[in-house]
Amino acid sequence: MLIASTKNAERISLIARVWPRETLLQMGKIHGFYCPVCQAPVHLKTGTKRCWHFAHQPHHACFVDSEPETSAHLSGKEDLFHWCDDAGRSPQLEHYLPELRQRPDLYLPGIEPAVIEYQCSMIPEEVFASRSMGYLDAYITPIWVIGINHYHRQWERIRLSGFTSMAIRQSRVSPETHPFSSRYYVWFYDPSTKVIRCVHGLSPLSKTHFISQEKSVTLSVCKPYQLISPPQKFSPAQFKRYWLEMKKRKRQAIPYHMTREEYMLRAQTYQLNHYFACYPAFVGLPHHSFIHLMNPPLLWQMWVYLFMGVIEPKRYVMPRQIIEKAVQRGMGSLYELRHLPLCPLKTANQLVRIYLEQLIRLGIAEKMDDRYRLVYLPPKDLVISRLLEDDRRVLERLEETLLSNPIKE
Ligand SMILES: [Zn+2]
Repeated sequence: MLIASTKNAERISLIARVWPRETLLQMGKIHGFYCPVCQAPVHLKTGTKRCWHFAHQPHHACFVDSEPETSAHLSGKEDLFHWCDDAGRSPQLEHYLPELRQRPDLYLPGIEPAVIEYQCSMIPEEVFASRSMGYLDAYITPIWVIGINHYHRQWERIRLSGFTSMAIRQSRVSPETHPFSSRYYVWFYDPSTKVIRCVHGLSPLSKTHFISQEKSVTLSVCKPYQLISPPQKFSPAQFKRYWLEMKKRKRQAIPYHMTREEYMLRAQTYQLNHYFACYPAFVGLPHHSFIHLMNPPLLWQMWVYLFMGVIEPKRYVMPRQIIEKAVQRGMGSLYELRHLPLCPLKTANQLVRIYLEQLIRLGIAEKMDDRYRLVYLPPKDLVISRLLEDDRRVLERLEETLLSNPIKE
């Protein structure tokens, strides 16, 4: 904590750094320092390793649960405070919200109040969810900025799991300019370099990996409102390259680490006399909303194909029936939703429907009332090089058709 009260209810903030060390020590000796939330005595820490701060006694349970504060957390919180202050947002540091029993790092008052939580330490998903829901229920926009220690990028992929994937938000900036662009993003901040990084254009490759594009800037050239409306420059060529690369790997790589869902799906595919690696090119289509499903599009769309193309060809089906059949075969988790508490809700039905609408645009499915069936099935092909060429062609065609005729959600 950077804020404490004295016995006389005087508020002592360490953020302005107006108090010399000796004065603070003296003040602590005479009046003592107390937690402004639970009134328990707190220690003043004026070491050299971390920013000066206040800390509860070890094992003391405050009204608000808080994690031990690392040096990165303290200095990041301080930077973000000054940043919002300079932008005229009148931030309130560690402002206690008694009705929520929560004390965000920064509270930004206004017509649309917001809080900024700078999260460096690992927190359980339930804690993340309940804090976020607390703010949302009180009409406060929660914005989580993740500590750079949780930023894990390999090539074009970013890994987001646990609470870092729950911090994903949907940008208010719309409409989408490109059918493959994604409004989903997450922020990271590094206090040691003062660089804030927007990882945007998120599209899922697996449960924990996402294709993304990035923009990193010095905090001072960014503005706080951009936390909810980030600048997003989307490169379609880069996205398509990564997406096709992912499909190529799926066709060519020997699967060492399979999720339970992939294992079950591969087993189903072989039982139906098909090769998993030779899935048709219309399996594995991207759409920004598909981030709402835990499993990557390639897997759950493979089941749509197996069910509508192999098990029940020619029959008109509803999205709900596709999911129910997966449940019956023990693969219900293929359609498990990702927990994104900061994004508008989507249902698995809606997502399967979007995919079927994409298939209609590609001339592969047709629709009667709200039921669908596949009308074109490519001949079985086992030549990987031709399938890879198909992947590219189908993606290009999808892009072209959606550019002129986007899918309404
Ligand atoms: Zn306390």
